[in-house]
Amino acid sequence: APAEHPVVVVNAHGLPYLDARLPVKRRVADLLARMTLAEKAGQMTQAERNALRAPGDIAGYALGSLLSGGGSVPSPNTPEAWARMIDGYQLRTRATRLQIPLIYGVDAVHGHNNVAGATVMPHNIGIGATRDPALAARTGAVTAKEVRATGVPWDFAPCLCVTRDERWGRSYEAFGEDPALVTAMETVIQGMQGARNGKDLDRNDKVLTSAKHFVGDGGTEFGSSTTGSYTIDQGVTRVTREELEAVHLAPFAEAVKRGAGTVMPSYSSLDVIGDEHGPVKMHANAEMINGVLKDRMGFEGFVISDWQAIDQIPGDYPSDVRTSVNAGLDMIMVPTNYQDFTRTLVAEVEAGRIPVSRIDDAVARILTQKFRLGLFEKPYADTTHLSSVGSAAHRAVAREAAAASQVLLKNEGGLLPLKPSQKVYVAGSNADDLGNQTGGWTISWQGSSGKHTTGTTILEGMRKNAPGLTWSKDASAPVEGYDAGVVVVGETPYAEGVGDVGNGHDLELSAADKAAVDRVCAAMPCAVLVVSGRPQLIGDRLPGIDALVASWLPGTEGDGVADVLYGRVPFTGQLPVTWPRSEAQLPVNVGDSSYDPQFPYGWGLTTLTAVPKGGETTLKALGLAARVLQAAGRGDSPEARRLVARARLLVQDRIGQRVTEAVAKPFAEADHRLLSGDPAGAVARLTAAYRAAG
Ligand code: BGC
Repeated sequence: APAEHPVVVVNAHGLPYLDARLPVKRRVADLLARMTLAEKAGQMTQAERNALRAPGDIAGYALGSLLSGGGSVPSPNTPEAWARMIDGYQLRTRATRLQIPLIYGVDAVHGHNNVAGATVMPHNIGIGATRDPALAARTGAVTAKEVRATGVPWDFAPCLCVTRDERWGRSYEAFGEDPALVTAMETVIQGMQGARNGKDLDRNDKVLTSAKHFVGDGGTEFGSSTTGSYTIDQGVTRVTREELEAVHLAPFAEAVKRGAGTVMPSYSSLDVIGDEHGPVKMHANAEMINGVLKDRMGFEGFVISDWQAIDQIPGDYPSDVRTSVNAGLDMIMVPTNYQDFTRTLVAEVEAGRIPVSRIDDAVARILTQKFRLGLFEKPYADTTHLSSVGSAAHRAVAREAAAASQVLLKNEGGLLPLKPSQKVYVAGSNADDLGNQTGGWTISWQGSSGKHTTGTTILEGMRKNAPGLTWSKDASAPVEGYDAGVVVVGETPYAEGVGDVGNGHDLELSAADKAAVDRVCAAMPCAVLVVSGRPQLIGDRLPGIDALVASWLPGTEGDGVADVLYGRVPFTGQLPVTWPRSEAQLPVNVGDSSYDPQFPYGWGLTTLTAVPKGGETTLKALGLAARVLQAAGRGDSPEARRLVARARLLVQDRIGQRVTEAVAKPFAEADHRLLSGDPAGAVARLTAAYRAAG
C-alpha cells in the first residue's frame, strides 16, 4: 500500500470475515450474516466515478463498485494519478460500518487503453488473425499487469462476441466470426486472471475478467433497431436454438470452464426461432442467465449489467429492477442513478417481489470475488509494477502481436516484403495516424484521430527500416521514379453504435483513400494496407493492386507492421472474418451454403521462407500424420497446427490468386476444423481445395 495509507486492515475484534486464514466460503457467510438489506443493495450497485454527487456517497450508499466509463480518466491522465484516484475512493469505504472494499472496473479491452502512455494491443479482431492462443494469453498478461498496477482489479474484457455481420460497428471487438476461433483465443482469460480456480487473483499482476456480452451481441440482424438510430448494435439476434448453442453460447461455456470471474449481459434482445414469446432483452432473460449461464453451465462468478441497460427493459423502473435481478443479475451498472437504484431495490425486496435469497446469492457472489482478489487485505493499489505501464518489455509484446496480426491477402510478384534499399513512396490517410491505428476504446470511448498517446505510427516504423522513404499523405506529390508504393488506407475511430453501417459509416474506402490508391497503383508496383476494424470493400480495384494487407487496428506499435513489411518477421496472419466482395453480400460467414467472398475466412499468404515443396502426395502424408496425432488425443497440439499450416501453404502455392467458390469453401472450413481439434479433417478439406484449384 502507498505510504499515505500505512494501516490497511485491523482486525481488532477477531471478526471471521476479516481473517485471511479462513476459507473464502466461511468469510462470505460470516459477512453476509452481518449485513443489512441496505448494505446488500449497496454491494449490488456500481456507479460511474464522474456521476458521484458527493464523494461521501461511496460510504453513504455503501456502494459495492465504481467504474470508469470509456474515457473517464483522472487529470492528469497518468498511471500514478489512476492509482491515487482509486486509493482515494477506497479510503472512503473505511468510513462504512463493515469496511467492505469496493471493486473498481475499467474497459481495458486492448491494453490499459484509457491511460495515456499505456501499451495498446491490436484490437481483438487482429488477435484473432494471429491464430496464436499463447500470444493472446501473453497480451492478456501484459494488460492485466498494467491495469492492476494502477489499482484496478477488474477489467470488462474479453468480448466473446462472434461477429456474424461486419456492418456491426463493434465487429473489431470480436476475435472473429467462427466460434471455434473465439473459443481458441480465450487463453486471454488465463493471461489476465491466472489459474482457472481463481487462486492467482490476489496477485499484483492479475485482474478479474468479464466475459461479454452474454449472449448473441455479434449476431444481431441488420436493420433490427430497437433503440434510437442503432441499426445493428443493441438490436435483435434471431437464431435457431442450434445456432444459438453452437455459435453464440459455446464461447461462454468455455469462459465458465476457464473461470471468468464475471459475465456481462448484452444490450441486444434474443429471439429464438420457434419460441412463442418473441424477442427478450438479454438483461431480462431469466431463461438464459439463471437457466443456462448459472444453472446449466455452472457459472459461479457474478453477473454485472451493462451501462444503464436495465432501463431498456419494457416497464417502469421498479419493474426494470426486479425483472433484471430476478433474471439473475447480481450487480447493476447504474452510472448515474445509484440513489434511485438502491432505494428501489430495497423497496422491491421489502414488498416481497424479489426474494431475499436472490439478494443473498448475488451479494455472496460479489463478496467471493472481492475476497479472492485479496481486496479485504489490500484494498489500495499495489504500485510495484507501475513503471511497467507502457514499458519497453510490454511494447515488445504488442509489437509482436501487431506483426502476427497482419494478413497478407495478395502478393503479386512477391512485392512484399520490401527491401530497405528500395525507393519507396508512402501515402494514405492511415500511414501516420496513431489514433486511427488504435481505433475506438483508446484514451476516449470513441477514440480519435491524431497523436493522443505514446506510440509509433506505421510510417514511423517504416522509416526506421528505410530512412529515405518519401511520404505524402494525399498522394498529390509526383509519383514517378519509385520501386514501390505503400498506400495505407482505412477507417477513422468509432465505438458502440456509432460505427454501424447506416450511422454514417460504411465499408467503402473514403474518396481520398480511393484517389491515393488509384494514383499510386497506376504509377508503380503498390501495396495497399487496410487499417480498419473490419473488411473494407476493395472490389474491382483488386487487379490493380499488387499486394494487399489487412492490418486491422494494430495498436500503438506501428513498428510491428513495419516488421512484416520489411521482412524482419514473416506474414503469418489469417483472416478472422470473411472478406466480402460487396456490402450486398453481407452477412457472409464460413459454413454458409453458398460462399463466394473476395477472400475466404482463414485466408492469408505467408512470406515464411521455408515453403514446403510437394503436391497431393505430401498432403496425403500430412493428413495421415494429423490422423495419428488426433487418435493419440493431440488434435490441438502445436505439432498438429504445424502440419495443417504446411498443408495450407501447399494449397496457397497452388491456387495463387485464383480464389473461386469451389476453393474458398473447403479452405475456410479447414481452419474451423483445425480450431475444433480436428487436424485430419482440416487436411482433408485442404486436399479438396487443392483438387478444386485444378
Ligand atoms: C459497453 C460495455 C462496457 C460498458 C462500460 C457499455 O456501453 O457496452 O462493453 O463494458 O459500457 O464502459
